[in-house]
Amino acid sequence: MPQGALISWAPMMEGGVQVNAEGRRFHDDTEGYSEASVRVLAQPGGVAWNLLDPRLLTLARTFPDFLAAEAAGAVRHAVDAQALAALIGCDAVTLAATLAETRLRAPYGAVKVTGALFHTQGGLDIDAQCRVLRDDGTPFPDLLAAGGAARGVSGNAVWGYLSGNGLLSAVAGGYIAARTAAAQIGGDT
Ligand SMILES: Cc1cc2nc3c(=O)[nH]c(=O)nc-3n(C[C@H](O)[C@H](O)[C@H](O)COP(=O)(O)OP(=O)(O)OC[C@H]3O[C@@H](n4cnc5c(N)ncnc54)[C@H](O)[C@@H]3O)c2cc1C
Repeated sequence: MPQGALISWAPMMEGGVQVNAEGRRFHDDTEGYSEASVRVLAQPGGVAWNLLDPRLLTLARTFPDFLAAEAAGAVRHAVDAQALAALIGCDAVTLAATLAETRLRAPYGAVKVTGALFHTQGGLDIDAQCRVLRDDGTPFPDLLAAGGAARGVSGNAVWGYLSGNGLLSAVAGGYIAARTAAAQIGGDT
């Protein structure tokens, strides 16, 4: 399942607006980035534009990943709605109507984004020792799984993801699986 947060999502949670290539909003921006990812991929060209105003740009620049994206030229700037429409390549009247229903104020920052694999949800069923389970609930011999390979706590829907779950299951699960493996071979845990 694709998840996405290639650029900091925090400015979006603070009032940033996502529009598609036609200059229209297409989902509830207050949802998480996992939800946004699948909605973006369903848009024309599979892309969207994250729109920020000066207040949100100031916030965004407190995040190293945003600064790196800006240094790479990914953050574009437009003095007004007409210039922003030219940047996006959409109809200026449509975009102006979209912006009029937001709290964004010119000048604008704009970042073209898409959805991408972020972490996996679902996977092999495991027990508390990270042993992979058969359909009947009994463990396979000598088969362990953790992290993205194993079923996590997020469930199989985009709304189930909570930030930090990917590394949580990878680090904690890896630790547990290593102890199980050591115990199985009679080694020192
Ligand atoms: C941009 C981005 C930001 C993220 N930010 C966060 C965050 O803030 N917090 C959070 O909790 N999670 C975050 N994640 C998710 C997190 O990184 C993953 O959930 C986590 O790394 C999964 O760990 P893993 O060990 O299961 O798998 P991976 O980290 O994917 O490791 C799998 C390893 O196996 C190797 N491999 C694959 N196939 C083979 C093969 N056939 N032979 C040998 N080696 C192979 C791969 O090269 C890789 O090194 C982020 C992910 C991305 C992409």
